[in-house]
Amino acid sequence: MKSRTKVVVIGGGIAGCSTLYHLTQEGWTDVVLVERNELTSGTTWHSAAQVTNFGMNQTMVGLKTHSIQLYKELAEDPDYPINYHHGDGGIRLANTEAQMQGYRHFTSMARGMDVHFEVIDAEECARRHPLISTENLIGGLWDPMDGDIDPAQLCQALARRARKAGAEVYRNTPVTALTQHSDDTWTVHTEHGDIDCDIVVNACGYRVNEVGAMMGVHHPVASMEHQYFLTEEIPAIRDAGHRMPLLRCPISDYYCRQEKNGLLLGFYEQDCKTWGMDGIDPNFVNALCPDDLDRVTDVLEGAFARMPALMEVGVHTVVNGPITYTIDGAPLVGPIPGKRNAFCIIGLRAGLGEGGGHGWLLAQQIVHGEASYDTWCLDPRRFTGHANVELTALKAIEDYQNEFRFHFPHEHRPAGRPAKTTPLTPVLAAEGAAFTVINGWERVEYIKPSPDFSPTLSFDFDETFDLIADEVANVQTGVGLAEVNGFNRIEVTGTDRHSFLDRMFCGTVTRRDGRVGLGYLLNHHGMVKAEATVANLPASDRGPDRLWYGSAAASEFHDMDWLTQHMRVGEDVHLRSLTNEQTILVLAGPKARDVLSACARGDWSATAFPWLSVRECFVGIAPATVMGVSFSGELAYEIHVPNASLYAAYLALRQAGETHGLKLFGARAVESMRMEKSFMHWKADLITEFDPFETGLDRFVKLDKGAFIGRDALLARQAVGPQKKLVVMQIHETQRPAHPGASLLRGDQVVGTVTSGDWGHRTGLNLAHAFVDPEQSEVGADMELDSCGQRVRATVIPPSPYDPGFERMKA
Ligand SMILES: Cc1cc2nc3c(=O)[nH]c(=O)nc-3n(C[C@H](O)[C@H](O)[C@H](O)COP(=O)(O)OP(=O)(O)OC[C@H]3O[C@@H](n4cnc5c(N)ncnc54)[C@H](O)[C@@H]3O)c2cc1C
Repeated sequence: MKSRTKVVVIGGGIAGCSTLYHLTQEGWTDVVLVERNELTSGTTWHSAAQVTNFGMNQTMVGLKTHSIQLYKELAEDPDYPINYHHGDGGIRLANTEAQMQGYRHFTSMARGMDVHFEVIDAEECARRHPLISTENLIGGLWDPMDGDIDPAQLCQALARRARKAGAEVYRNTPVTALTQHSDDTWTVHTEHGDIDCDIVVNACGYRVNEVGAMMGVHHPVASMEHQYFLTEEIPAIRDAGHRMPLLRCPISDYYCRQEKNGLLLGFYEQDCKTWGMDGIDPNFVNALCPDDLDRVTDVLEGAFARMPALMEVGVHTVVNGPITYTIDGAPLVGPIPGKRNAFCIIGLRAGLGEGGGHGWLLAQQIVHGEASYDTWCLDPRRFTGHANVELTALKAIEDYQNEFRFHFPHEHRPAGRPAKTTPLTPVLAAEGAAFTVINGWERVEYIKPSPDFSPTLSFDFDETFDLIADEVANVQTGVGLAEVNGFNRIEVTGTDRHSFLDRMFCGTVTRRDGRVGLGYLLNHHGMVKAEATVANLPASDRGPDRLWYGSAAASEFHDMDWLTQHMRVGEDVHLRSLTNEQTILVLAGPKARDVLSACARGDWSATAFPWLSVRECFVGIAPATVMGVSFSGELAYEIHVPNASLYAAYLALRQAGETHGLKLFGARAVESMRMEKSFMHWKADLITEFDPFETGLDRFVKLDKGAFIGRDALLARQAVGPQKKLVVMQIHETQRPAHPGASLLRGDQVVGTVTSGDWGHRTGLNLAHAFVDPEQSEVGADMELDSCGQRVRATVIPPSPYDPGFERMKA
């Protein structure tokens, strides 16, 4: 066994084998995999191993395409071919129009990744899968590349290729402890000796938290028992002359594929069970949980009704094994929060289908610092302090119960709520607030007209349309108040604070006391990494000279890691998170100044407190830090208040607002208004796949300011020219917004992808942001949006269709 290597991958299931193989493909061959037993002896050996191309977003579709291409290549290896059935297709069934509409959207989205799904009617489903009845069926989504693979052969093939490239695999070598040294390198302690390395990767499947504990972290991953059975031979399959397509059923929660001349039927029962919550038997190796078909009778009934042939055959094998889930159903692939040189590839619930792609994207992150796709939907830092073991289990159960039921736009499922609240949450609930969830925080979405108001889940505009119009109108003509909780706030102190942020941002970071600026951080490839406001607060009785770095709620761990990891030894910079201590009250609208002046002493005139100012004060008796910034495009103030004083500040504002008609507004109104101002959203419009010039952020880049992270790479990119350009578009339809991921077409060619879309209530325009081919990016360029299967006209328009001169917010 080596005593030193570059990377140690812990775990020899599909996750570990794929990571090891892809590290060698990215050029790192001094890498090692350690496995406590034999390869595939965790979950992988007994997987049903279906391999679909279907995913909820382009990153998922793209990584699954990578899996499929890789698996085809491995299957065709002349020396060591493996069993991979692909190209027989698969159907996701639907019995509601809403599901069909979703499938049409996902088809539009996948097209941008050169993946071609088809939405077919019930008769066509039955024609392609002769065993199914069309009762209670409207149709389905056809994935032509659906298939299944031999999981053990797959892992062996990956390990073999990795070894051939120079990697080493140590079987029967349990990792017993991990030590991180002061230079951030690691020692991996195993039962057979120690291995020093630069980087560790946790790929331990259901034992993820045993290894997590060795480095002092808890990963939000929980295991569920999951069963399938195999039937005896079915004559109709034997005689069909072709393999049966796979089936996935959101109506009765099962999947089904051909296995030899019978069927493999897997279940996602409502009466489901977590597994291993109180520890896992160390001898649970190549093992299964006891069969329990009684739990799945509800699912079986639905499956029998759909495939009557099932009732005529016996079951010869039942498999019940642990399968891992996270809080949102997607795995955790990337850097471990708060750690250096530590990565994970865990929480895989469809690891055979996805594993090839996850290993690829993880290896790219390890070797190059970033993957070729934006991997935020997989990033372990997307869950923060709320992601404890109990919440994870509740979300795992909910996700398991809804396995094939995709989330509709604005759908927020109830399990594990409320997780993060402020003192105002119950107050706002009593005011009729409907809540959305952002990084675990319950944030007001809109104010309901009645307690039982519940809009239809749909890709179309729904019953909230007029409510949001009213909230926007009140902000436009009067004054509105919104709570923005969980906003990421990092206090930066120390004498080197300005030079530190100068290095982090690609533009000017203002050094003037009492001023606020917006800026962007790039990664080492010159791509957009983060967006933040920086406020300069002079020393006061509340603290020393300091900067407040503010960014999207979801970025809490992401941005803290990025900043921390780029502090230099000896640099006098101190970072302190205020995210859980402070909440923002946004006061917006032409009467905002009157309301603020009525409850906060001081001169709030445009001369004394112009746009982009920051000042400490009191709102009523609540200490507050007020910033003159606006996401709505109206005159607005962000009032930052310590949570202990939040209710006091709220009462003062409400009282002062009474004579001005102050009303509450929520995140949906903000979304509509920010679209009209062409303000970007982090991880919707601002992603690591594009540089700031492609993203239209030219005015925030100062190439001549001196060194900053990403500058050299950006210069090189600038010389080549943009691959895409972010544009603002008008969508010429009124039925539904443009959904993120939807494809823009010219003829049959995909020329762009939507990143955000919403109705602009002040302009009366259906608006979208999209990355399009540079030649389609001029104002006036016309193309078509594939809007849930309908082609509608879409035109590039100038940015900020509402108040293009930015006069209202500076008033
Ligand atoms: C019944 C069932 C059906 C499924 N069907 C499908 C399907 O159709 N399609 C699909 O894509 N997915 C399916 N899955 C899910 C899929 O099998 C898993 O996502 C995948 O196998 C997980 O792989 P992994 O590498 O993450 O974990 P594992 O396969 O569990 O591998 C983790 C490895 O880490 C090792 N390890 C743990 N601790 C240590 C340690 N301390 N030191 C060294 N090594 C350690 C373990 O021994 C193990 O080999 C199914 C799962 C089940 C249970």
